[in-house]
Amino acid sequence: MSEDCIFCKIARKEIPTEFIYEDNLVVAFNDINPQAPVHVIIIPKEHHDSILTVPAGDDIISHLHLVANRIALKTGIAKTGFRLVNNCGKDGNQTVPHLHYHLLGGRPLLWPPG
Ligand code: 5GP
Ligand code: ZN
Repeated sequence: MSEDCIFCKIARKEIPTEFIYEDNLVVAFNDINPQAPVHVIIIPKEHHDSILTVPAGDDIISHLHLVANRIALKTGIAKTGFRLVNNCGKDGNQTVPHLHYHLLGGRPLLWPPG
């Protein structure tokens, strides 16, 4: 847990946010600035600065991926395809220093990314 972290505050329900998924390890919610018709942020409740700081042996990454699958099925984007994105660090354009995945879909997504 990090006192000033915006995603920790969301996970602790200090910033009212509608969860589209929650379990004991993870919450997911719609991005405040959506880049696609479906744009869900999936975060661990436990604070990690980024994917780089998850210790070996911690299975939170696989759990986040399985939750992404579940939300992709629930929102319908699994039918046509989707993208699961982790931005890491400055060049990766990570703006919130709490590990998270973006689940994007509902339109054809371009490649390569910008
Ligand atoms: P990053 O750039 O770090 O990969 O992604 C952070 C994402 O979190 C951005 O897409 C941004 O729109 C979203 N975001 C930042 N603050 C909030 C917030 O308070 N509520 C919600 N729902 N999304 C947020
Ligand atoms: Zn945090």
